[in-house]
Amino acid sequence: MQVDRRYGTTTGQGYGTQHQALRRAWAPKVAAGAASCARCGRTIETGTPWDLGHRDGTGKREYSGPEHRSCNRQAGAQLRNLRALDPAPAPMTAW
Ligand SMILES: [Zn+2]
Repeated sequence: MQVDRRYGTTTGQGYGTQHQALRRAWAPKVAAGAASCARCGRTIETGTPWDLGHRDGTGKREYSGPEHRSCNRQAGAQLRNLRALDPAPAPMTAW
C-alpha cells in the first residue's frame, strides 16, 4: 500500500504539531460539553464531531478554537468557492 506524500501527512496542510497539541488541549473540555463553537457560538455537545478552527485570513497560522465540524467545513467550502469565483488568479511567475 502506497502513501501519497502530498496528502498523506497532516503537517503539509497547516495541521502540524502545534495544531495537534492544541487539539489535545481542547479535547477534554469539548468532551465534557464545556466548549462552545468559535463560529456559531453554540455549545459543542458531547460526542459531536469537532475541528480546531483557524481564524479566517491568517493563512492557518492562528487558531480560533474548537468548532462544530459542520461549521468548520462549511466555512472552508465558502472560502474555496470565493476563490473559485476569482476571475483572474495570480500567475505563478511572480518571483
Ligand atoms: Zn458551530
